[in-house]
Amino acid sequence: MTNKEFVQYTQELENFYGQKLNDTEKNVWYESLKFMTIERFNYIIAEIYKINKFMPKLSEIIDMHKQIPYTQATQQKEVKGHCEKCGDTGYIIYTKLVEGKPYQYATVCDCGRQNRYDGRTIQDEKHRSDFYVPTIDEIGLDVKSNKPTKKQVYDSMTKLKNSEIMPESIKDIIRREFIKMKE
Ligand SMILES: [Zn+2]
Repeated sequence: MTNKEFVQYTQELENFYGQKLNDTEKNVWYESLKFMTIERFNYIIAEIYKINKFMPKLSEIIDMHKQIPYTQATQQKEVKGHCEKCGDTGYIIYTKLVEGKPYQYATVCDCGRQNRYDGRTIQDEKHRSDFYVPTIDEIGLDVKSNKPTKKQVYDSMTKLKNSEIMPESIKDIIRREFIKMKE
């Protein structure tokens, strides 16, 4: 998984348990966990949510990874055909404004590649929680493709074009791409 993916999913953990990792911890965690795919990490975390009452330790995450065989872990179903919406990952990343600041969230695609985690349906009462991963349908996202929209690209290019820290040579490249896009 990439550092960006790691940060995003760890943020979910932090929010869920109401406890933050410091930067050093985050670095150590990432170095130790980056060998996992994001799907695997997500699966391990979903298991942690079911079992841990408190923020897990790094060793608990690694133990969980060792305990759960890969074959069982993959909830990914055989789905035929290519899914434009999630790019065959089963997940869709979207941005939501919270108090004016954009935050990235993950949601489950409706193509059926991934089962969503739902803490409300857990049998054991002490592990039950209100935490669940919504499907795109529940959020009302109208996703055609999990690629940035033309407007998103346009907006970020505009931002870069006007950035003061960007070297002129790179701005030139952006300007050229920008013109191509508008055509
Ligand atoms: Zn999909």
